[in-house]
Amino acid sequence: MSDVFIHPLAVVDEGAQIGKGTKIWHFAHVRGTARIGENCIIGKDVYIDADVVIGDRVKIQNGVSVYHGVTIEDDVFCGPHMTFTNDMYPRAFSESWEVSRTLVKRGASIGAHATIVCDTVLGEYCMVGSGAVVTRDVPAHGLVVGNPARLIGFVCKCGQPLREVVKEENGAVVMKCSKCEATVSIPTSDYDKVV
Ligand SMILES: [Zn+2]
Repeated sequence: MSDVFIHPLAVVDEGAQIGKGTKIWHFAHVRGTARIGENCIIGKDVYIDADVVIGDRVKIQNGVSVYHGVTIEDDVFCGPHMTFTNDMYPRAFSESWEVSRTLVKRGASIGAHATIVCDTVLGEYCMVGSGAVVTRDVPAHGLVVGNPARLIGFVCKCGQPLREVVKEENGAVVMKCSKCEATVSIPTSDYDKVV
C-alpha cells in the first residue's frame, strides 16, 4: 500500500484493502476486512466497519461511521457527521439481531448530518439534503429533504436541481440542466412521486 496516505494517528487494521491514491486522515479507524477503492478521502474520525466495501473516488467527511451492511459505490459523497444505521429493531439486550443493508449507488451525495435508516437504496446521483432522515429508497437523481425525507425533485449529475422539462417519451420525463445543459431521463413512475 505504498501509494496510500495513512495519517500516523489513523488505525488501519491488518488485512484492510486500500486502493492507490486514497488518503486516510487522523483518528480514522478501518477494520481488517474492509475494502476501500482508489483515490478516496477518508476524513478525520471516520469509522469503516468490518466487511464494508467502498468504491473509487468516494469522499467521506469527518465523523462518519460506515457500519457493517453498508455498501458505497464509486463517486459517492458522505457529508460531515451523516449517520448510517444497520439495525432495524435495535435492542441493547438482543442476542439475535440481523444486519439490515444499505446501498449507496454511484455518484450519490448525502448532506451533512443526514441519517440513512437501514434497508434502503440510494439511487445513482441522488442528493440527500442536510439533516434529512431517509426512511425509504431514493430514486436515481432524486432530491430528498426533511424528516421523514420526501422527494421534492431531481438533480443533475453536476448537482444542480433540474427544473426544465424538455419532453415526455417512452415512460420517462426528459429534464434539462440550466447549468451544464445535460439532459436527464427520469422514469415517469419516479417523477410522479414528487410531493
Ligand atoms: Zn448539470
